[in-house]
Amino acid sequence: MKILACAACLFVLAQAQPPAPPAAQSRATVIRAGRLIDPATGTATANQTIVVENGRITAMGANVATPPGAEIIDLSRLSVLPGLVDAHNHLALTYKKDPESDVYYLTYVLDSTALRAIQAVSNGMQMMSAGFTVVRDLGNNGNYADTALRVAIEQGWVPGPTIVNSGIIIGGMGGQFSPTPEMAKDHNIVYPEYLDADTHDEIVKAVRQNILFGAKVIKVCVDCKPYPYTVEDLKTFVAEASNAGLKVAGHVQTKVGALRAIEAGFWSLEHAGPLDDEVHRLMAQKGIWRVGTETPFTTYRGTKDAFDRTVAGMKNAWANGVKMAFSTDADYYIPGMTRGEVVINFLLSWKASGIPAKDVLKIMTTNGYEVCDLASRRGPIKVGFPADMIAVGGNPLEDLDALRTVTFVMKDGLVFKRDGVMTPEKFLHAGPVNGWRIR
Ligand SMILES: [Zn+2]
Repeated sequence: MKILACAACLFVLAQAQPPAPPAAQSRATVIRAGRLIDPATGTATANQTIVVENGRITAMGANVATPPGAEIIDLSRLSVLPGLVDAHNHLALTYKKDPESDVYYLTYVLDSTALRAIQAVSNGMQMMSAGFTVVRDLGNNGNYADTALRVAIEQGWVPGPTIVNSGIIIGGMGGQFSPTPEMAKDHNIVYPEYLDADTHDEIVKAVRQNILFGAKVIKVCVDCKPYPYTVEDLKTFVAEASNAGLKVAGHVQTKVGALRAIEAGFWSLEHAGPLDDEVHRLMAQKGIWRVGTETPFTTYRGTKDAFDRTVAGMKNAWANGVKMAFSTDADYYIPGMTRGEVVINFLLSWKASGIPAKDVLKIMTTNGYEVCDLASRRGPIKVGFPADMIAVGGNPLEDLDALRTVTFVMKDGLVFKRDGVMTPEKFLHAGPVNGWRIR
């Protein structure tokens, strides 16, 4: 009875409530862009005006009228472009040298989901400050800290990128952990970092659990154990996810796993280790995304040999016409660097690949919106779309290093960073200003 009464109350409440006011101000904002870049075509147009109202772009061009009372933002000495995308990160995971020797199994034991959700908000802001307005977040986020982050951003509590999150990574028994029998069987240590699914029914149930708890993409450990999923298993993931309109991303670490995921019709392959010329040809044929997480060789991470293999793989993928995304797997702490600074330093890999700057810029923006399955509703600077944009000095179509210094960031029409300083006040609210029904 109690439950029924509560449900009825909520229903009445929902009927009686007026629609929530939008988080964005009703006052128009006008942006004067010295150079407006369209990464989809690799072109730039000088002296453009962009009008933003209620969070969306309502007009743009060389000669558009300024609405009365509009706030003018002068970016006439800068290049304005759409926000960047990291197609593979884990914002609610940060493993560290001290105290856990970069072993994330220990991070999971030491850091609660609640702490990791707060960390995710901070990491999200660090990503936004570096110009990333979209992050595809692929698991290892405790008990759905990724959903909490997405919902908090979308409801309007905190600033952050648009999050396309996977919920819990689904895998064969054990996930990516190698627990003792005691920890696995007596203490259930694998969950919630991984969701075991070993049979057809368990796969269906695991996919549905993630969707119920807010996943917007399904992440599968295809071959993390000596008992990789079969093609039939993997097709079950694709069928069940697509029944809810979701795509499937496959972590692959063997060639057998990659070939099976391709045959099963996966949307994207995560990590590039096993992707050779044969695999790349098949991916290009079937239009499967390569989300390669190409780690650069730096003083703080990587080896020369691994980097050489990474760059050779990027060149081969590009030569084969594989669809590529900018992605990092940057889920670790480097003292002195923000999460965004660690991520943008992956430019080192893309520059070494020899892919022209304008194509890399397209990969970091246009391709990113596509691999996130957002392109029809967010990303490009276009009338009717949410006003997400960044500004940099110089011209990133010619020099990618221009992206290292993002001085202006707008998200959903609100200014997050201006003149190189974060200004998050307008994003902070004590309640769900965009509506509590966003889940
Ligand atoms: Zn990852």
